[in-house]
Amino acid sequence: MAAAKVASATWPVAAKIFPEILEVDENKSLWATYTPDYQAGDSLKKDISVDLAIIGGGFTGVSTAYHFSRSYPEKRVALFEAKILANGASGRNGGMMLNWVTDHLQFASDDMTQRVYNTTHDGIKTILTIIDRHNLDVSLRHDGSLEVYTDSQRAETAHAEVEHHQSLGIPVRFLDAADLKKYIGLEGASGAVLDPNAGQINGLQLVRGLRPVLIEQGVEIYEQTPILKVREGREIELETPHATVKAKAIVLATNGYTGKLGYFRDAVFPLHSHVSATAPLTKEQQQSIGWHQSSGYADDYDRISYSVMTKEGNLVFGGGSNESYAYLFNNRTAYPGTPESAMSSFKKMENTLYDYLPNSKAFPIKHRWTGTLGITLKRNNLMGVRGDHRNVFYAVGYCGHGVTLANLSGKVITDIYSGDDGQWRGLPFYQPDYAPIPPEPFRWLGYQFFTRVTGKSPRA
Ligand SMILES: Cc1cc2nc3c(=O)[nH]c(=O)nc-3n(C[C@H](O)[C@H](O)[C@H](O)COP(=O)(O)OP(=O)(O)OC[C@H]3O[C@@H](n4cnc5c(N)ncnc54)[C@H](O)[C@@H]3O)c2cc1C
Repeated sequence: MAAAKVASATWPVAAKIFPEILEVDENKSLWATYTPDYQAGDSLKKDISVDLAIIGGGFTGVSTAYHFSRSYPEKRVALFEAKILANGASGRNGGMMLNWVTDHLQFASDDMTQRVYNTTHDGIKTILTIIDRHNLDVSLRHDGSLEVYTDSQRAETAHAEVEHHQSLGIPVRFLDAADLKKYIGLEGASGAVLDPNAGQINGLQLVRGLRPVLIEQGVEIYEQTPILKVREGREIELETPHATVKAKAIVLATNGYTGKLGYFRDAVFPLHSHVSATAPLTKEQQQSIGWHQSSGYADDYDRISYSVMTKEGNLVFGGGSNESYAYLFNNRTAYPGTPESAMSSFKKMENTLYDYLPNSKAFPIKHRWTGTLGITLKRNNLMGVRGDHRNVFYAVGYCGHGVTLANLSGKVITDIYSGDDGQWRGLPFYQPDYAPIPPEPFRWLGYQFFTRVTGKSPRA
């Protein structure tokens, strides 16, 4: 603890010695293959003044643009994306649309447990409502997801917790090993918790599908427009390659990339995570590997292994070992390798899948890609407002739970802006404390040491 404090005190020096640059690589995910014709929109070419400038074109940015422009149709709103909408984690993730704010987080009271579940369940319902309201072409499943236990003792603990959650009105169910086989025949599983309200979604289709809706609602969208610098004040100035933006308020919707703007460097770090997917499997092929129902599962290890079956039949999976994640020195936000150069990491990950579903070996991997998560040490994300003028809004650091929460963030930010934030106060993501992460070189050394010695990811 003392060492962490000393290391954190070196932030001002470290920031000078190791300046960071924004790097955004191309999204090569399975999800992107479902919108092959999407072209990035125009960049900003002339100076503008707006009421709200949103930085980042993933779930957080698009959700904020959506909810804010519905509440304040008279205000000028612009969204800036460094590359193309859904180029970041929102267009590259594992697709699990989950409740709760992180895995295995205990809450202080039953009331908070209910509140968190109901909040995220409302988040999922909001995603479905928006898709329905605007008739968006988004592939998804809403038929539940499984939290799988690989140890009988942990399964029993989970069983007891399920009974407690049921007593609070939370509709989860415990499946013993035999019941679980009726959903997914996973080798080595002792039981699972089924959340019938969870599901799976192609997030890239959601983000890009909302583009015309936002434009219709008056939002200006500038793609290929990285924000290079933020100068805070009553009126904030944003520097872009060709023009300056003046904004009364801004939103940091940049998740794993946020440190590049000088914010939350000691709170959120970018973690590169690999994902693989097969070509679509027929129903018979899905049955042959033991996948009968449910959109996906995640296991109970620290380096969580997860998998979903898309509506089209793609078996998508990631995680499961140290090798499926990489922290790169000085918070690099682009993964420098190709799937070929990182093949040993992908193979290790694929072997974890084959341990769970041996018959899936019969179906070749068609897609391999890497995406950048924003990780906090406590694993809870951060939403709120900061700055001397209380005009820098943020929603970052979702770890592996951003599909639901980042899509909810636009409601939270709009309510904070309106001064009507009672619904969110006290929730674990609302202006929370965070455990500070030391700067380089301690950050990289600490990550390497901890992950190699323990096989786990650093947590506070
Ligand atoms: C491999 C992987 C698997 C995951 N699996 C799951 C899962 O199964 N379930 C789940 O719930 N969550 C999952 N997540 C997490 C989830 O995808 C993210 O939490 C969520 O997408 C975050 O959305 P966002 O909009 O905040 O960030 P992002 O989607 O990363 O969007 C940020 C955007 O900001 C842009 N940007 C950055 N800097 C600038 C700048 N200076 N100027 C302009 N634009 C900028 C980036 O280009 C990017 O498009 C996963 C993430 C990854 C990477």
